[in-house]
Amino acid sequence: MRKFVYQFDEGRKEMKFLLGGKGANLAEMTRIGLPVPPGFILSTDACKDYNEHHGHLSEDILREVMLHLAHLEEVTGKQFGSAENPLLVSVRSGAPLSMPGMMDTILNLGLNEKSIQGLMHATGDARSSLDSYRRFIQMFGDVVFGIPSYHFEQALTRIKKEAGYQSDTDLQPADLEELISRYLDIFSAEAGRDFPQDPKEQLLLAITAVFDSWMNPRAVIYRRLHDIDASYGTAVNIQAMVFGNTGDTSGTGIAFTRNPSTGEKAVFGEFLLNAQGEDVVAGIRTPVELSQLQKLMPQIFEELIATCALLEEHYLDMQDIEFTIEKERLYILQTRNGKRTTKAAIQVAVDLVHEGKISREEAIMRIAPKELDQLLHPAFHPDALAKSRVLATGLPASPGAATGAIYFDAASAVRAADMGIKVILVRSETSPEDIEGMAKSEAILTARGGMTSHAAVVARGMGKCCIVGCADILIDEQEKVLRTKAGQILHEGDLISLDGGTGQIYEEALPLTEAELSPAFDEWMQWVDESKRLQIRVNADTPADLQMALHFGAEGIGLCRTEHMFFHEDRIPFVRQMIIAENSQDRACALEKLKDMQKEDFCALFRIAAGRPINIRLLDPPLHEFLPKETREIEKLAQASGKTVAEIRRRLSELTETNPMLGHRGCRLAVTFPEIYKMQAEAIMESAMIIHDEGIPVHPEIMIPLVATQAELALIKNEIKATIQQMFDKERLILPFDIGTMIETPRACIVADQIAKDAQFFSFGTNDLTQLTFGFSRDDAGKFLPSYEKLALLPQDPFVSIDQDGVGALVELGTVRGRMTQPNIKIGVCGEHGGDPKSIRFFHKIGLQYVSCSPFRVPIARLAAAQAALLEQHSMETV
Ligand code: ADP
Ligand code: MG
Ligand code: MG
Repeated sequence: MRKFVYQFDEGRKEMKFLLGGKGANLAEMTRIGLPVPPGFILSTDACKDYNEHHGHLSEDILREVMLHLAHLEEVTGKQFGSAENPLLVSVRSGAPLSMPGMMDTILNLGLNEKSIQGLMHATGDARSSLDSYRRFIQMFGDVVFGIPSYHFEQALTRIKKEAGYQSDTDLQPADLEELISRYLDIFSAEAGRDFPQDPKEQLLLAITAVFDSWMNPRAVIYRRLHDIDASYGTAVNIQAMVFGNTGDTSGTGIAFTRNPSTGEKAVFGEFLLNAQGEDVVAGIRTPVELSQLQKLMPQIFEELIATCALLEEHYLDMQDIEFTIEKERLYILQTRNGKRTTKAAIQVAVDLVHEGKISREEAIMRIAPKELDQLLHPAFHPDALAKSRVLATGLPASPGAATGAIYFDAASAVRAADMGIKVILVRSETSPEDIEGMAKSEAILTARGGMTSHAAVVARGMGKCCIVGCADILIDEQEKVLRTKAGQILHEGDLISLDGGTGQIYEEALPLTEAELSPAFDEWMQWVDESKRLQIRVNADTPADLQMALHFGAEGIGLCRTEHMFFHEDRIPFVRQMIIAENSQDRACALEKLKDMQKEDFCALFRIAAGRPINIRLLDPPLHEFLPKETREIEKLAQASGKTVAEIRRRLSELTETNPMLGHRGCRLAVTFPEIYKMQAEAIMESAMIIHDEGIPVHPEIMIPLVATQAELALIKNEIKATIQQMFDKERLILPFDIGTMIETPRACIVADQIAKDAQFFSFGTNDLTQLTFGFSRDDAGKFLPSYEKLALLPQDPFVSIDQDGVGALVELGTVRGRMTQPNIKIGVCGEHGGDPKSIRFFHKIGLQYVSCSPFRVPIARLAAAQAALLEQHSMETV
């Protein structure tokens, strides 16, 4: 017979797919003797069984739940629904992978007209007991019957107003009794039935609500955003309640064993006196720092710090701990690996290595390559920052800098973002319904809530700049205005800037600069580099890009596209004259001018590269791309070249192609106009000579694009070689250089053994290779790839992650055949896939020497390459 329910002392942390993350950790903490209130867990198997029975709890499950409930009554010495000593429980969902705020928790379940008497008797505190009851009605109504919370909030506000109270805690027992009776009326009116008085019925309704919530739209969106499998299901934790709202020796809070923003090794957290947990998470009251707890209850504080140390020692990672203090007794209600910024993740990993707790390999594997994106985010330019006025200051919940237009609700934010507007979502506080709006915003600002509020936790997970608890502003979500204490008023669409590192908000869009990398990052990256086998190069066409890429650890240029140098505004007239030239003299004249310009660029790149390999691709795009389209431009060209407008138009129509992607481009240009590549080869080698004279080593790789046959390549290569030989003869100097080819046609992959006879290197141009292998035009794919994605016809966008079965197989074939002819031929990849972690794993596996990607992806590629190498080592060890 299947087992569906587990007591806390029956589980352990490894069982999270069965017991959910929360349940497995509650079990583990129970097992190692921490003060966890007792309870039991309905497993994810129970969730699956519930779904198989179309939303019914089977007899088996019901029987097990009742058995465990009886046991819980026994160990707590309390009874469900008792008027003397009632058992109250929380019903908490727990998915196998953490989904913060996605599923709803019900507290104080078991309260009814009878047990409220018992609770007041047991706690001796009528106010807190009645307060628990009215919260329970609201939560239960909301979670189980979908009654919007504002009905209850309105009743609460009204009663406070009637009595002239400021705060919830001013409510007296008589007020609360009145409030409860109003709540019960609201419940009946909205739910269409009376509030269930039987605790067992309450429990079963709550359990089914948790199981149902697995499929609610917020949970579905969260899973989609985070790639979580929908078939896991959720577990339900039933746990005896402890009370943080029984006066000033009670409270509730959250502690991180290290700082989740910076990674600093110091317990970091917040707590609220005389409160139940939801208050901290929901950001309704702004909590105080843990240091306050040290003053108020030093012994409890010590115990908490010791527990933090113990849990971190046990899990070997930074923990996020939820605790409650009931009458000076500490209870631990949750622990999990804390969400953190990438900066903190690296700091923690490096520190744990130094503390001897984890290995370097573990430290490398703990950070997902794409998380590094966050680190490379820009910050505000210090000069602009110094001059700008601070509008308001809040809590710096998640670092980074962002500018954008403010929007006051998630739906408007999503709409604006979809129109390409940079959006900052501004809310009083966020709730799980805002998740999509948060995902599409540049940054998030809330007026209320602490460092562990929903907004803060979710933003850190998304790597988004976020400021919370900004008491300097007032937000009217109805009117869509933001008012500052100083009296400024901002409306929807107004621009602001947020600094998530300082919590400061500026009243204009500030310019941004590059991110600064920490010493821990450098150290960690060094371990990364020691582990990887692939070399990481950059696709860079300008000195600025190359400089940035070297700063990010690039080991050379894998692709310098010379046409990007041609596209320059002051160069294009000469390119045009070169193209429309009718005789070779005119063409030579235009080319001579272009050569000087290219030399300038190459010299600058060689100087910065300082001997690192530089792969220069000769001119690739179709000629007509350079030509003018508008009449004014055509007239200008006619004038400059001494031709009539009609002549230019005729030439333009001659150059127009039906299918330019498959047309007159790449090496085909060199077949018809050999002068172009000759000029480029001269520019490259003359630059190399200049740099060599400056005493800087230089070794260019000259790359011929779009080759399909060995004969094409041989012809062009020999021409270039002859040109360079002439230069060497003239200057009586020989410099090292390589000539190779971009492999980007399927035919080139298939005949790579022949092509390798004339190439010193291969660089797979996987963008074009993907286009030509699928026969998909990248420029038109937007019309149909989304449908392919929706129908799951492709596992992923093949322009983002390499299609291993098809395009990848061609790359592998080309590699194997190329090496048959030339075992030591240098082989790499340029193209978008060179920066995609999954593709990098593949390129590592098939034994390439390098990948090349855009500057910002260089650190990501380094990490992905290291992880690929470590995974390979590991799988070889376990084989
Ligand atoms: P989430 O997954 O959103 O963090 P939890 O199940 O952890 O939800 O519940 C939220 C809060 O409810 C907890 O942080 C805790 O303060 C409070 N809570 C949950 N169970 C209990 C309990 N048995 N006794 C007291 N408070 C509880
Ligand atoms: Mg929790
Ligand atoms: Mg190409």
